[in-house]
Order: sequence, then C-alpha cells, then structure tokens
Amino acid sequence: MSAQVGGTPEIHSVGIIGAGQMGNGIAHVSALAGLTVAMVDISEAALAKAVETIARNMERQIGRKLITAEQRDAALALITTSTDYASFAQTDLVIEAATERETVKHEIFKKLCPHLKPGAMVASNTSSISITRLGASTDRPERFIGMHFMNPVPVMKLVEIIRGIATDEATYVAVEALARRLGKITATAQDFPGFIVNRILVPMINEAAYALYEGVGDIRSIDTAMKLGTNQPMGPLELADFIGLDTCLAIMQVIHGGMSDSKYRPCPLLVKYVEAGWLGRKTGKGFYDYAQDPPVPTR
Ligand code: NAD
Repeated sequence: MSAQVGGTPEIHSVGIIGAGQMGNGIAHVSALAGLTVAMVDISEAALAKAVETIARNMERQIGRKLITAEQRDAALALITTSTDYASFAQTDLVIEAATERETVKHEIFKKLCPHLKPGAMVASNTSSISITRLGASTDRPERFIGMHFMNPVPVMKLVEIIRGIATDEATYVAVEALARRLGKITATAQDFPGFIVNRILVPMINEAAYALYEGVGDIRSIDTAMKLGTNQPMGPLELADFIGLDTCLAIMQVIHGGMSDSKYRPCPLLVKYVEAGWLGRKTGKGFYDYAQDPPVPTR
C-alpha cells in the first residue's frame, strides 16, 4: 500500500530484480529498515544463494553488535523470493539490479510494467546505462529514476541518485527519502555516461589494467602503489575483482560509446580476462586467484 504525503508517494514495499551481489545487499538494507521486500531473479539458485548471503551477512552484523537477533529475524521475515513478476503487483518501488547489459534490462522492463500498479515507481541500480533511455523503455518514464547503490550495500554509505530527463520531482523526492531511510547519504548526478562515481572510478581501473598490460608494473606493485600512494583502502585491480570484471568492462564500454572518445577505450587485457571467465571474486579468479589464502596475482 502506498500513502500520499504532500503529493510525494511514500514507499513501504520494494521489489528487487536480480538477486546477485547488489540485489541481495539492497534487499538486506531494505528489510532491516522495515520495508517488505519481494526479490525476483531468473535463477532459483541465485535467489536461494541471496537469502543465504543475507542471513550470513546479518549474522556478521549481530557479531559486531550492529543489529540484534530480533532485528535479523524481523528483517528476514519481510523478504520473499520468486521468479514471477506477478509478485510485484502491490509494490511501491521496484529496483532493478540485474546484469549490466542494456538488452537484458530493456527485456526486463517490458515484462515488468504490465504487472505494476499505476503509481508504482521503478529504479535502476545500473552503474552506467542511460537512465533516460531505460526510462523510455517503460510505460512510466516520469516515475523512473537511477538509484545507484555501492558495493557492499550494507557497508557503503553512498547512494547516487540519477534523474533521467523525464523523471518527475515527486519520484526524486520519494526515492531520495527512501535512501536516507536506508541509512544512506545521497549525491545527485545528471544522466551522463558513468554518472559521477563510475565516470571517475572505472577509467582509473581501466588505466590500472593498461599499466599492467604495458608492463608498467605488476599486479601487486600497481595495487600497493595506489593504496599507499593515494590513500585508497583497496588497490584498483583488487577493487576491480571486487566489483566484477564483466561489470567494469560493461561500464567502460558504455562510457566509451556514450562519450565517443577514444580515451575511454577498454583495455584489451581487461577484455581478455572477461573472455576467460575470470570475472573476479564472484568466479574465484580475476586479477587475483581466490582459491588461495591470501589470494595470489594471476600474472
Ligand atoms: P551479479 O552478476 O552479481 O547479479 C546479477 C543477477 O541478475 C544474477 O543473479 C542474474 O541471475 C540476474 N539476472 C540476469 N538476467 C535477469 C533477468 N532477465 N531477470 C531477472 N534477473 C536476472 O551482478 P551485480 O554485481 O549484482 O550487478 C547488478 C547491477 O548492479 C548491474 O546493473 C551493475 O552494474 C550494478 N552495480 C554493480 C556494482 C558492483 O560493484 N558489482 C555496484 C553498483 C551497481
């Protein structure tokens, strides 16, 4: 059910499409904030894994005395999973967090929209794809917005909010208020490729891959140099493994295409890692091999 306060729709329930690393994080923080959460994925296995991951991450938060066992139980009880968009019939806001491929997202919105109630809002957690273009593929571009969470969602404070050209003020206000309710701080970006965070971050990761490709430094040297030389908690290659190399490449391709500027061309070595299926932590191997503890560089 959604209530109207001063013309701004309030959000009591969220739907999440895509139960991967971002989807499960968004479900985690939403349920802890008391929202009902319906998760949909094409993969039953991904849904089961997401619920397990959420429970494990909440257990860790209990261990750190950030939440109580009662809060965990109440939150887990608010989460349901399904492979059917019909579970979004009463949802106030659906947040799409599926694979970073524009055709996949367009296909999702085409299937999703007929299931939504008229006032429902739709957000995409896309890292780089045009919010205006995604919104135009729905029946409600004025109630479509970018809600870009950072990874890992329960830990990272920022939500970047991106207004498409058609996004209306009520949607912006409602989604910004929701982000704050989830305990986040927001930054607002205009709808240009990569928005703010990835326009700056992913070209840096791509440049680190070039430095490796050209032999400027090896994996450890590049990460150590950037960690200790620029005071970053993770080196760029370690961070790329954490984000997912497929996601990094997809973002770079969007920025390259969207800006039509060769300075953003994806590094061939990054492409090769993705072709090998070495996507980072999620596949056990990327710039580092996670089968060993501590992880060892793959070059
Ligand atoms: P992921 O690969 O971990 O998960 C993607 C999930 O989407 C998978 O479970 C997959 O089964 C599901 N999926 C694919 N096609 C689907 C469909 N048609 N319908 C329903 N589910 C479908 O990816 P992720 O890292 O969670 O990224 C998801 C989104 O979040 C992407 O748009 C990405 O750009 C964005 N994002 C990622 C990060 C990051 O650090 N990984 C940070 C911010 C935003």
